[in-house]
Amino acid sequence: MKRATRAVRVGRVTIGGGAPVVVQSMCATRTQDVEATARQAQALHEAGAGVVRIAVDSDRDVAALAEVAKRTEANLSVDLQENYRLAATVAPHVRKIRYNPGHLHHHETTKPIPEKVKFLADVAARHDCAIRVGVNCGSVAPATLEKHPGDQLGAMVRSALDHCEMLDRHGFTRYVVSLKDSEPAKVVEANRRFAAERPDVPLHLGVTEAGLPPDGVIKTRLAFEKLLAEGIGETIRVSLTVPNDRKPEEVTVGRKILDDVAHRRFISVPEFGKGLNIISCPSCSRVENEAFVELAEKVKELTTYARKHKVTIAVMGCRVNGPGETDDADLGLWCGPTTVNLKRKSEKLGSFPYGEVLPRLKQELDGLIAERAAG
Ligand code: SF4
Repeated sequence: MKRATRAVRVGRVTIGGGAPVVVQSMCATRTQDVEATARQAQALHEAGAGVVRIAVDSDRDVAALAEVAKRTEANLSVDLQENYRLAATVAPHVRKIRYNPGHLHHHETTKPIPEKVKFLADVAARHDCAIRVGVNCGSVAPATLEKHPGDQLGAMVRSALDHCEMLDRHGFTRYVVSLKDSEPAKVVEANRRFAAERPDVPLHLGVTEAGLPPDGVIKTRLAFEKLLAEGIGETIRVSLTVPNDRKPEEVTVGRKILDDVAHRRFISVPEFGKGLNIISCPSCSRVENEAFVELAEKVKELTTYARKHKVTIAVMGCRVNGPGETDDADLGLWCGPTTVNLKRKSEKLGSFPYGEVLPRLKQELDGLIAERAAG
């Protein structure tokens, strides 16, 4: 039984209000590579993506996105990174603006957050755009985290609720919300809590950094199946670490999940999540080296021997989100242009050339397993 949320129009599609669940995806190409980005946006559209998101982080990205919009039929959404003011120039070319409440404090540090939210609402209203308030557990605003010590999940839900209230106060109601984490159980809990508080707001479901298939698909299903079966979730995105030419898989997998849930076909994987857990981002325009996907695949291959050990390894594509998003992992790697950074919990172990990081990772993993065995 679907929830009776408000309907939010995003260009040609409607999210919520009883409309069929919309499958979304995101380009992982460099936004400034107009040809590759337009080609990927079109491929995602042809695979059935109702909305295709593209990241912008500079004026050059905005100019590129304007060109991309002319070359694809995809229904475009922009992913604002830290520079929220780019919304003003990019809005004429897209149908939805996604902002992360956890990134708003980076620019114009003295300006109050509600003023920044008002700016975004005004821009969206002026250009016939919807908004997504996209909260990630790994990047909740420091001010909100401080009010919820030791409770990241509570902080994430609070952050989403606060931003809904700010948008409502400005009379802007054409928004959806997402609450993402890399752990399926947290995604389920956060979305249930939010849905209980704001049953009127459509939810965009996602398990962030789900990783390489098939595990990335299983993680995603574990969250989506539960929520969709409860009628929670008006749009979905499956985040998979796959090479650019396989990106449309995010859409085909999403469609399959929706079809399976509609026919009550659920997966049963009782042993899943009890051993080695590899988290990896789906990559995006920010990825610093095209070798990222191959690196994630090699990490998986190299660590197969440790699959029964409860260790989490996170592999991220860039320096911007890499350090924060690897914080909860036992071992974390994130890409730079020519080197890969490695850390063990919060201790940074150094930067290593792409060809040398794997033996060092194995050394650390062996050490960790030996320590646990001894302890
Ligand atoms: S970690 Fe960096 S490269 Fe990966 S999806 Fe996030 S922003 Fe993009």
